[in-house]
Amino acid sequence: MEGEQKILQQWIDDSRAIVFFGGAGVSTESGIPDFRSVDGLYHQKYDYPPEEILSRSFFDARPGEFYRFYRDKMLCLDAQPNPAHRKLAELEAAGKLRSVVTQNIDGLHQKAGSKRVWELHGSVHRNRCMRCGKPYPVEFIQNSQGVPTCSCGGTVKPDVVLYEESLDGRVLEGAVSDIANADMLIIGGTSLAVYPAASLVHYYRGHRLVLINKSPTPYDTHADLLISAPIGQVLGSIKVR
Ligand SMILES: [Zn+2]
Repeated sequence: MEGEQKILQQWIDDSRAIVFFGGAGVSTESGIPDFRSVDGLYHQKYDYPPEEILSRSFFDARPGEFYRFYRDKMLCLDAQPNPAHRKLAELEAAGKLRSVVTQNIDGLHQKAGSKRVWELHGSVHRNRCMRCGKPYPVEFIQNSQGVPTCSCGGTVKPDVVLYEESLDGRVLEGAVSDIANADMLIIGGTSLAVYPAASLVHYYRGHRLVLINKSPTPYDTHADLLISAPIGQVLGSIKVR
């Protein structure tokens, strides 16, 4: 671990266009639950599995039930950035990190100060009326009862990519372009099992592919450096110079 941390520091020192690609594990250290791993917990209160509730057809058919789950499990507005978020923002400000690509929808990277963030699955902080397009802050969703409704009568929907919905092409292109041009790719807190996570890794063409995860992933053998430790601890120890 100590030797691996040294190599990581050396590679970061030598790189000028780092891209960080992160998943749910980055946010769990801020206390945000990974809904994929809390099935047992949720079964006590909900009649459907999370994957079904978080699908577009479910949202259209039972928006009230969707929002009950969404407010309860997906909105964690008190969560604060952890050392991983803060270090990545610091690396960007120092001109070493080009962007963050994330599967998370909590906005914690921006809260930590990151500017260039590709949110593959959208953000709970952007919400829009499906009829007139009027934007609403997340507090409006949080504080409304039942199905949040626009002044025009339309339903307000979070700008979050639900199951059955496609990713935003502009976001995906931006992420692909940054990864293809990166001189170092750090992947953390993701099992790389969810589309399009795995396919994005293939766009990286360099020789500093770092994988930081507490549990094994299908891509462990592709990594130039593999670190099995909490992401906050690993990135938190990095010196920006
Ligand atoms: Zn409206």
